[in-house]
Amino acid sequence: MLGDKVSVRPSLPGSFPLMSQTDFIAAPGGLSVTRVESMPFGENTYLVHQPPNRRCLVIDPGFEPDAVIAAIEEAGLEPEAILLTHGHSDHIAGNAALRKVWPGLPILIGRNDAPKLGDPRANLSAPFGFLVNSPPADRLLTDGETLDLAGLRLSVHEIPGHSCGHVVFRIMDCDPPVVFAGDVLFREGIGRTDFPDGSFDALASGITSKLYSLPDATLVLPGHGDSTTVGHERRHNPFVPDPRATR
Ligand SMILES: [Zn+2]
Repeated sequence: MLGDKVSVRPSLPGSFPLMSQTDFIAAPGGLSVTRVESMPFGENTYLVHQPPNRRCLVIDPGFEPDAVIAAIEEAGLEPEAILLTHGHSDHIAGNAALRKVWPGLPILIGRNDAPKLGDPRANLSAPFGFLVNSPPADRLLTDGETLDLAGLRLSVHEIPGHSCGHVVFRIMDCDPPVVFAGDVLFREGIGRTDFPDGSFDALASGITSKLYSLPDATLVLPGHGDSTTVGHERRHNPFVPDPRATR
């Protein structure tokens, strides 16, 4: 079934205490999606590519970049860009390590979240007692634009509320659609809205207008936890139900 996962265990050199979990996610349209769940926040990094093309996108590299790098190298992939849904530390902590391995790898993030990359207070690492600094953005994303990367076309949709510059990425030309939702929409959950730039009303209205308007079969790959679908969330999300959904 779409969204189902199969665990793999990348072999890492040495005795690195690997806490992460790596899964292949069943995706439509011949897409290949690998999820690396990094501790300590259970954050999902996704690698996406369209075989036989070996170029891939890295979405939200988190706190265990060694596992992400191992997954890329074991699959023989060539990363073309880092796409960030937003600038919180658990989604950007791996940027610097990836750039050490692939120095030219561009970093793309929503225009309003770019300042968080180099600001440990704003990216919420300082409040947890450590400092995350990412290289600066190479490209700032705006609502409604289309990206042509790694042989894939993606549309960018700004949905603030968890973070003021949060974007989600939808793979175009894919049926059913696939959305990388970051911390906007989880399986029967939503992102926190109690941060200084948070807003429940903005989040709920963005989810309703920009995600619930997609087909029910749309595969939603969130920044934490298991995958879900638009149809499941319209009917069963306890925080943002869709009053138009029929059970
Ligand atoms: Zn976040």
